[in-house]
Amino acid sequence: MNDCIFCKIVVGEIPSTKVYEDQWVVAFKDINPVAPVHIQVIPKEHIKSVAEFTEDHINIAGRLLFAASEIGREHCGDNGFRVVTNIGDDGGQEVKHLHLHVIGGRKMTWPPG
Ligand code: AMP
Ligand code: ZN
Repeated sequence: MNDCIFCKIVVGEIPSTKVYEDQWVVAFKDINPVAPVHIQVIPKEHIKSVAEFTEDHINIAGRLLFAASEIGREHCGDNGFRVVTNIGDDGGQEVKHLHLHVIGGRKMTWPPG
C-alpha cells in the first residue's frame, strides 16, 4: 500500500521510535500519545483492520496480541494497561492499517467516548 503511513513506518520511509520488531510485527511510540505509555503494535503486512481477518490471519492475530502483552507488561509493569483496536469510521479508525493501541501509565476510564 504505497500511500499507507504505517507501511512506510514498517520499511523506515517515515521515521518512528520503534520499541519492538520481529518477523511479523512492529511496535513504535504513538506520535500523539493520550497517556504516558501509548504504543502502536502493527502487522508488517498491510491489513486494513481486524474486520478483514480471515483464517489466514490467525497466526498474525496471535502474534499481534502476544506482542501487545509483552510490550504492555514491559512498559506499564504490574499496574495494567489497555489494548484497543479501532475499526472503520464508527470505530474511530483514522489510519487504515490495523494497529493495536497499547495505552497505560495512568488510570483509565470506562466507557470510552
Ligand atoms: P486510529 O484513530 O485508531 O486510527 O489511531 C491512529 C493512531 O496513529 C493515532 O493515535 C495517531 O496519533 C497515530 N499516528 C499517526 N501517525 C503516526 C506516526 N507517523 N507515528 C506514530 N503514530 C502515528
Ligand atoms: Zn499499510
